[in-house]
Amino acid sequence: MPMSADGFTAETVFNQIIGYTYNDLILLPRYFDFEAGDVELKTRLTKNISMQLPFVSSPMDTVTEERMAIYMALLGGIGILHYNNKINEQVEMVRKVKRFENGFINEPVVLSPNHRIQDILDIKKKSGFSGIPITEDGTTNTKLIGIVTGRDIDFEKDVNKKLKEVMTTELVTAKVGINLSDANNILKTKKVGKLPIVDNEGKLRALVARTDLLKNRDFPLATKDKNKQLRVGAAVSTREEDKERVEELYKSGVDVLVIDSAQGYNKYQIDALRYIKRKYPDIDVICGNIVTEEQAEGLLKEGADGLRIGMGPGSICTTQETMASGRPQATAVYHTAKVAYNYNVPVIADGGISVIGHIMKALSFGAESVMMGGLLAGTIESPGEYVYKDGMRLKKYRGMASLDAMKDGGAKRYFADNESIKVSQGVSGAVTDRGGLSDFIPYLSQGLKHAFQDVGARSIPELRDFMRSGKLKLQVRSASSIKEGGVHDLYLADKTFL
Ligand code: IMP
Repeated sequence: MPMSADGFTAETVFNQIIGYTYNDLILLPRYFDFEAGDVELKTRLTKNISMQLPFVSSPMDTVTEERMAIYMALLGGIGILHYNNKINEQVEMVRKVKRFENGFINEPVVLSPNHRIQDILDIKKKSGFSGIPITEDGTTNTKLIGIVTGRDIDFEKDVNKKLKEVMTTELVTAKVGINLSDANNILKTKKVGKLPIVDNEGKLRALVARTDLLKNRDFPLATKDKNKQLRVGAAVSTREEDKERVEELYKSGVDVLVIDSAQGYNKYQIDALRYIKRKYPDIDVICGNIVTEEQAEGLLKEGADGLRIGMGPGSICTTQETMASGRPQATAVYHTAKVAYNYNVPVIADGGISVIGHIMKALSFGAESVMMGGLLAGTIESPGEYVYKDGMRLKKYRGMASLDAMKDGGAKRYFADNESIKVSQGVSGAVTDRGGLSDFIPYLSQGLKHAFQDVGARSIPELRDFMRSGKLKLQVRSASSIKEGGVHDLYLADKTFL
């Protein structure tokens, strides 16, 4: 083994009998002469898709549906929609992300002139909306003819009165195509609460709300396609019947497909990859999950545009214990990324990310982005409601191979959906509240920039070059050094760090 008294290269550390997790290793600091703000986190998800931040949300039914995908893309990363659902449900999620326009409500609730005041009150109670556009037949397929706001009904005692008797018919509207800042200006100058956006036939296409004015901010890092629509990915299985899913997702404008298998180096995955590449050559395909050089080589030779790395590190995962195969994640990322580099294909480090330092280590060992499940499952944007337990605000988070999720269809990833006896490879639990992504993602990226500064790297490619050239040195941590590196010997500690 090449020896150095002052740390060891990644090549030395990872070419050993023993495999390492992120926590087993520490990066040695290097000289820097720049501010953390100078660090650039621009990266690639796949061969053809780049992002301003290296963050991907996992295709799990307690993590990524349209809301998560919209906010991940707005903030500079991307979301991969899960497929524990019917084809039309997943496709509808893709459409919602692709149609999303910041500040524009694209599917406003509408009523007809024959609805009653009580219907408005019901909507307000359920969803909090108060200004409801009125169309000829109560759908967006007919002309906009009025609007009912709080001002029209506040003093009405008769809740059975029809809306045609109370609605405002002198409308301030704007035409489809108006940009958000012009729409906001109309809201301000005309002093209206809602601005309906109509097409040439007078049909309602969207709504801009005064209450959203302050929230309508710019998202300069947003991950967008050439039509300026947000990018979104979707998971598919290798099953024959998912050919239809692929077709529908493709038609709905999905940007990238993730062939989702727990052990992704197999005939079914390669057949699916070949099929998709042949039929839809313009769509990028991410293959996985894998952990070895042999697996990486096998999928790259077939044309994978990205690789998803990880078998067993997930916070809800029991694969390594139950199935006896997998690999410690840091070692898996290093070896697969080494092979992928020769093909100029990025790898995604998937699973086991629970602190900013894990993201830093994944990128240092060759990954170009990280995929997160548990860390994002507690945000406002994940599916599901918060619950309270022992004074904590929690959200449900479950493995896609937990018995719970398999019952709902998640077994496709584990080739177990046709089996009558189900062996779980994951658990179901809960994670703590992480607040909104609009705060959480900038927090992760700011922390990451400081971590880059500590090793003197200004960008993800530079960090990787330091690792590959041996400039970046590592050290394996002893059990007591891991303890020393964590919080210790305190009577009380606030746990709000990551
Ligand atoms: P986390 O970020 O550590 O919570 O890990 C999330 C990752 O775990 C996902 O992106 C999947 O690769 C993986 N995963 C999801 N469900 C299961 C499961 O039930 N068993 C094993 N791994 C899972």
